[in-house]
Amino acid sequence: MSGLVSLVGAGPGNAEWLTVLGHRRLSAADVIIYDRLVDPALLSPYTADKINVGQLPYRHKISQAEINELMVNLAKKGQRVVRLKAGDPNVFGRGGEEAQYLKAQHVAFEVVPGLTSAIAGLAAAGIPITSDQATSFHVITGHRRANGQTLDWANIAHQEGTLVFVMGMENLETLTTQLIINGMPRATPAAVVQWATQWRQRAIASDLGHLVNVVQRGKLAAPALIVVGQVVNFMGRLTPKPPLQGLHLLVPYKAGSKLFSALQDEGASVNCFDRRIKNPLPVQLPDLTTGGTLVITDFAAMPFFLQQLHTKGLDIRALSNWKLLAMNHIVKYRLQTLGLMADGLYDPQRIDPRRPIVLIGEQERLATYHVPVKVTYLPTYESVAVDQPLNLKEFHGVVFPSSQSVADLYLSCGEFMRAELRHMPCFAMGQVVADECQKLGLRHVILVNPSYDSVIQTVKKTLRSVDDGAQTQLS
Ligand code: SAH
Repeated sequence: MSGLVSLVGAGPGNAEWLTVLGHRRLSAADVIIYDRLVDPALLSPYTADKINVGQLPYRHKISQAEINELMVNLAKKGQRVVRLKAGDPNVFGRGGEEAQYLKAQHVAFEVVPGLTSAIAGLAAAGIPITSDQATSFHVITGHRRANGQTLDWANIAHQEGTLVFVMGMENLETLTTQLIINGMPRATPAAVVQWATQWRQRAIASDLGHLVNVVQRGKLAAPALIVVGQVVNFMGRLTPKPPLQGLHLLVPYKAGSKLFSALQDEGASVNCFDRRIKNPLPVQLPDLTTGGTLVITDFAAMPFFLQQLHTKGLDIRALSNWKLLAMNHIVKYRLQTLGLMADGLYDPQRIDPRRPIVLIGEQERLATYHVPVKVTYLPTYESVAVDQPLNLKEFHGVVFPSSQSVADLYLSCGEFMRAELRHMPCFAMGQVVADECQKLGLRHVILVNPSYDSVIQTVKKTLRSVDDGAQTQLS
C-alpha cells in the first residue's frame, strides 16, 4: 500500500470551520502533523498519532527540512499522513514548497484547502473583506519584509482595496507609519483581530493614526490579523452576539453530539474531549429464542449489540420475548432514540432468576456489576484510553452529560488536574450525574435538568457576567 500526504487547511481555528473533506482526511489519517496555530482541541476527535511541529516565530521547534523528511518517510511506509496547517495551506503556509518537495520525492499528495483567516477571520469579527468602497483585497505578510525596505509601501498605501496583514503584529508600528508616510490618511479605519473564530477572539477597531496605542492598551498580540480600510466600519454592526459568546466549555464526550451543536449555536466554543475510544468486541450471541431479561448497563453498548444482530440477519424483533431493562433513567431515555421502550429499570432484587439474564455493556465496567444470581455478561465493546492534551485552565466550565463522562474525565486526569477540576464550575445533567460528581469530590457542582435548553440557561446565568456581552476573562 502506498501512502498519501494530504496538505489540509484547518481553517482559522474553530473546529466547525473545517471542510468536510478535511474532516474526512483527518478521520482516516494514521498520523497528523500539525502546526502551532492549530488548536489542539480541533484534533481531539481523531485517533491518529499526533505530532506537533509547531514553529514559534524565530524559534523553530522542528526545522522545515525535518518536517519534509518526516512526511516522506511516513508516506513511504504506506501511512496516510495529514499535514495540518492553520487557515489555508497555500496562504503563507508553505503549502507550495511542501507540495514541491513531495512531488520531487515521488510521494502521492493532495492539497485540501481551508478557510483562510485573512477572509474568515475578518468575517468572525463582522468585517466583510470587500464592500462598495473596497473592490479588491490584498493579503500581505507583515513578517518577512516589514522592515520598511523591501515591501513596496508606496504601492500598498495607494490601493483602494482592503489591506489584510498576517504575521504583522511584531511590526505594527512600522507598518502603520509606512502607510501614513506613503500617503494613506491617518483617519483610515483600521482594526486588529486576535485568535479569530476561537473562544479567545478579541477585536479592536480604531484608525491608522491611533492603532498602535489602542492595541497596546488593549494588550492584543499575535496571532492576529491587521485590517486597514473602510470595511472596518462594519465591525460590530454585522455580528450577532449570541448569549454564550466568549465562553469556553468542555464537554467530556465525543464530538458531534447534539449537546455540542446546541451550545455552539448559542455562541459558546465547545471542546469535546473523549480520552476513551470504543472498540467493538466480537460478540457470541446467546440463544435468543428462549427469551429472558436483557439488562443494558450503558447505552453505548447497544448499537454494537444491534450490529451483531444485523450481521446474523436479525433485527430487534429477535428480542420480542425478552424483557428490556435499563441501568438508569438516562440509559432508558437514550434507548428511546433507537425506538426502544425499556420495560423498566434494573433492580437486582426483582429480577426473575428462572429465566436467562444477560447484561450487556463495556468489558471492564461490566465486570464490576455483581449480580446475586447467575447471569451472562456480554461485553459488546472495550473502552481504550488514548492520549489527548488538555489544559483545564483554558475553560470556563465543564458540562457533564452522563455519569460515565464524569468518571472518564476524572480518571484520565492526574492529581494536579483533579485538583483544578474540583474547583471548576461543573454542570451536571441530572441528579445521577451530580451524585457522581460529588462522589469524586468535585466541589462546584451545578445541577441542571437534562435538557439542552436548561443547560444553556443555567450556563448563561452562572458564567455570564452581569455586564451582558462582556467577555468573561479567564484568570
Ligand atoms: N495559512 C494561514 C496563514 C498563516 S501565517 C491562513 O490562511 O490563515 C500565520 C498568521 O496568520 C498569523 O501570524 C496571523 O496573522 C494569521 N492567523 C492565522 N490564524 C489566525 C486566527 N485564528 N486569528 C488571527 N490571526 C490568524
